[in-house]
Amino acid sequence: MLKYEIKDFPLDQDNLMLAETLFHNANGYLGVRSNFEEGYPENMDSIRGEYINGFYDFASSPQAEKLCGLVEEKQTMLNVADTQGIELYIEGERFSMFEGEVLWRTRTLDMEAGTTLREVLWKSPKGKTVRIEIKRMASFSLLPFFLIEYKVTPVDFSGEVKICSTHIGKVMNYFNPNDPRVAGESFEHLLVESLEVINDVSYISSKTSKSDLCVCSAVKNVFSKEGKTEIIKEVGAVKEEYIGLISQGEALTLYKYTILCDSVRYPNLSNEAKENMEQALSIDINEWYEKQKAYLASFWENCAIDIVGEKDLNEAVHYNLYQLIQSVGKDPFSNITAKGLSGEGYEGHYFWDTEMYMQPFFTLTARDIAKNLIRYRYTILDYAKENARILGHKKGAAYPWRTIMGKECSGFFPAGSAQYHISGDVAYSIVSYYLATKDLDLLRECGAQVLIETARLWMDLGNYYRGKFHINEVTGPDEYTCLVNNNYYTNVLAQYNLRWAVKSFNLLKEAGLVSELIEKTQITEEELKEFEEAADKMYLPYDEETGINPQDDSFLQKKVWDLKTIPEDKKPLLLHYHPMYIYRHQVCKQADTVLAHFILEDAQDLETIRKSFAYYEKVTTHDSSLSTCIYSIVASKLGLEDKAYEYFGESAKLDLFNTHKNTKDGIHTANMGGTYMSIVYGFGGLRIKEEGLFLNPHLPKQWEGYQFRILFEDAKINVERTQEECRITLLEGSKKNIHVYGKEYCLEKELVIY
Ligand code: BGC
Repeated sequence: MLKYEIKDFPLDQDNLMLAETLFHNANGYLGVRSNFEEGYPENMDSIRGEYINGFYDFASSPQAEKLCGLVEEKQTMLNVADTQGIELYIEGERFSMFEGEVLWRTRTLDMEAGTTLREVLWKSPKGKTVRIEIKRMASFSLLPFFLIEYKVTPVDFSGEVKICSTHIGKVMNYFNPNDPRVAGESFEHLLVESLEVINDVSYISSKTSKSDLCVCSAVKNVFSKEGKTEIIKEVGAVKEEYIGLISQGEALTLYKYTILCDSVRYPNLSNEAKENMEQALSIDINEWYEKQKAYLASFWENCAIDIVGEKDLNEAVHYNLYQLIQSVGKDPFSNITAKGLSGEGYEGHYFWDTEMYMQPFFTLTARDIAKNLIRYRYTILDYAKENARILGHKKGAAYPWRTIMGKECSGFFPAGSAQYHISGDVAYSIVSYYLATKDLDLLRECGAQVLIETARLWMDLGNYYRGKFHINEVTGPDEYTCLVNNNYYTNVLAQYNLRWAVKSFNLLKEAGLVSELIEKTQITEEELKEFEEAADKMYLPYDEETGINPQDDSFLQKKVWDLKTIPEDKKPLLLHYHPMYIYRHQVCKQADTVLAHFILEDAQDLETIRKSFAYYEKVTTHDSSLSTCIYSIVASKLGLEDKAYEYFGESAKLDLFNTHKNTKDGIHTANMGGTYMSIVYGFGGLRIKEEGLFLNPHLPKQWEGYQFRILFEDAKINVERTQEECRITLLEGSKKNIHVYGKEYCLEKELVIY
């Protein structure tokens, strides 16, 4: 039973805003926050929102000092409409959770059914009791379709029930001027252009103020029982009122169908909105529920992840994986935002989070989705080239640090555009996909081209100094250390990128598939030699005295900030200290060199990795949610079992327990992918390299066992670790030579190692 349930859920503002995120419905295309249909009292804040992945407007983001090339315009994901509104009146009394008496209440997310449920037993101020059950679904089978099934049952009376269902086109985004992690200003991005009612379906079409995009929302209310209905058009909104008589114990249900179509995917917008609505209405609602279940059954079957012996953690892991499938774009127009489609934090932007934290899950369990993520990066390759020119590079592609449609959105370049590693991350993810699938076709179609253009960037960005290739003035993953020379993570990744640009060229050449690549990139053998030479001569910082890889050339020269002295009310540091103060110290927001030691572990010996882990652990605050999962993985690698387990727990529970105190703005999708990686790459010790598949499954002492399932080349493999044994089963595909606990085996059917 994959369920997450809160009984007697708290009704204070902070917890309600948190629940708006935790119980949101999404399918990778659209997302709806779990707002109460009837709203909260006026003095209570709420982030009421419905979003489409990749649907944005431009917004100005002025720089106080207009230096050359700084970003002055960003993209922001829009709240597109409000189709959630449903007011209920019983015998003239308006239902509100804040009036009368709530006798019983529960919120449930059913991760097998793909629905959420709010159940309330409410006694009105005049003493009438009703049961209200509200089920919601963002359909995985018809992506523009969102449904609210609103069921009311009078418990101790018969009488008049009035329902008022609203469809509002005039909506705005949430803003908070005091938090750099959400938009700081409000602006009317959407202008309603037309509003019509055809066959009792209301259609509202709106246009963005600057990006020239359109969205059409359509709503149809279907009531289970005859009543008096009236549809009223208002300015920018449509309201439908229903009045009916219901008897005690009899249920009245409103099925509120929403369709959201955007012009990014649907050029013939209003027709396509109509067609989608017709499709939604064409089959019985139970069939939609069945389709939803079937989609999720195959999702769970493909990853088959389970922890035995610790229910809470198992639940948290499932919750996190469910959020990944809810968040990931299902077409090449979109990607995965840092907050999924659950909120407006980071304004719906895509970061490196996708490639380094989430794509691995899809590469291993749902390849078509991973392919789309790579294709998305390909669709924005031209913008990445343009961005490189803006940054002053004569050649190559510099992927934007944060973006929706491809242009850079980071206003603060030291912790934004300077994070050149994102280009290496994109390259790394393409190689990882190739190594797991051996899909030459994707390399041919787009992957190799991206590898070459990103390799060109490193060549232009770096320079030789005393025989070594250096990369200066960049920011690594750790955003508390900015604009440095030779960030170890960046350099080692650039080295890998350069090598793989050459390898992918050779792979395609051997297969007779290279002509398209040459034509598109004009790559020459000479340039490839330059890539190889720079890779061979890449400077990777190493400090003899400490035996670690310093994070960059100056990291070890800085003052150490004793983390134990930081008061709780001064955390996270980014909200309490000037960046300059932070940058001057040896303090890390998140895994940086430690992450490099996970993704490219063969670049260093185990001792260096061990010493570096111990060193960085002392100076890392984990203020970024992208950190503890990586510490868990590397702790697993180093046999630090207790640490691996603890860091894993922090990652798994981050959103459900709101440990970063900002889940109200949206879930932390990268961390969710990180939770998965902590099991599969951490405890399971999975690595996929050119030499093949490696596993090293260890069991935390707190558990009885765990299992996961992955795709590797043409095979589907189940890995199960219990206290007694490690069982590896080939479920599909041809036999494979694999490495388990450092020994090579041939996996034909099943391998059991005691
Ligand atoms: C992290 C970045 C991350 C971004 C979006 C920041 O707090 O430091 O590494 O990409 O959040 O999740």
